[in-house]
Amino acid sequence: MQWNILGHETAISFLKNHSKPGKTRHAYLITGPDGVGRETLALAFAKTLNCQNPPAEGEFCGKCLACRQIDEQRYPDLMILRISEGSKDLKIDQIREMQQTLALAPYQSTYRMVLIPDFQHATIGASNALLKSLEEPPSKALLILTADAKESLLETIASRCEVLRLRPSSVGTLEGFLLNEKAIVPARAKRLAHLAGGRVGRALSFDQNQDLLDAYDEALTDLGDLLNSRLRERLQFIERLQQRKGASREQFAFLIATWLTFWRDVMIRHERADIPLVNIDHEQRISETAQLIPSRQIEKILKVHEKALVNLDANLNPRLVIENLLLALPLLMVV
Ligand SMILES: [Zn+2]
Repeated sequence: MQWNILGHETAISFLKNHSKPGKTRHAYLITGPDGVGRETLALAFAKTLNCQNPPAEGEFCGKCLACRQIDEQRYPDLMILRISEGSKDLKIDQIREMQQTLALAPYQSTYRMVLIPDFQHATIGASNALLKSLEEPPSKALLILTADAKESLLETIASRCEVLRLRPSSVGTLEGFLLNEKAIVPARAKRLAHLAGGRVGRALSFDQNQDLLDAYDEALTDLGDLLNSRLRERLQFIERLQQRKGASREQFAFLIATWLTFWRDVMIRHERADIPLVNIDHEQRISETAQLIPSRQIEKILKVHEKALVNLDANLNPRLVIENLLLALPLLMVV
């Protein structure tokens, strides 16, 4: 089986080379935006290192027990350390506990592997604790971290890892991949590729989550209505939102983040920038809105949305946050 991963050719050939005996290092850091394929790449590397029946050097079969267990994330020598449910960051205790495991001899593999996704969410204490494992790694230890960017981690951590930086594919390349490799119908493939901004993992998770896609559409429809509404109706919208869905912080954050993608599209269209729109299905409305609003005002709206997300994250009252945002929206009369 080939690695069968869209793009990332340089990273793949690097890791294939590092899967050869004597070439494997103790620590890797895979960076890139969410949904770009960091974990998929890490797991493919783990399969290559452990496959019981590799079809060729640097490949894995995808069928043997080791490959299947790694895919199902229950391989005994691979620990995946995630942020605990309900927590915002990775804690020092989790790192210490992991280090006890890392120090043990592997059950069956050459390595004791630990994958830590999104290490940018580690606390300073957790980061400093991890440093010990990087400075004096147990002889059979293999650590793979992922993060949004190298710069989000302590420099002392990044400098002790082999760093692989992943970038999204072009929207067109991803669209072709979804059409040809995933047998997704053309209109949907196009939409998903745009929504995901070329990030294959994100496109596939959208594809498997129709509720999320529907919620996305609903949020944009709501925004269209709000732009045509006066203040009183906007406040009524918030009432309805609270009654319909409860007033969870996540709901509000989702709504605002979705609207933000719309306004970014409006800016792209306004500036006639050669960048693919995220919400290609709403292209007409984006173009109409772009014609009605000057760029300074679009900039202001973008900032208001970004600030609202920061405020939500800082635990401000969600209702107040969204009220402020709706007050800042212009009144358009777009049909
Ligand atoms: Zn295998």
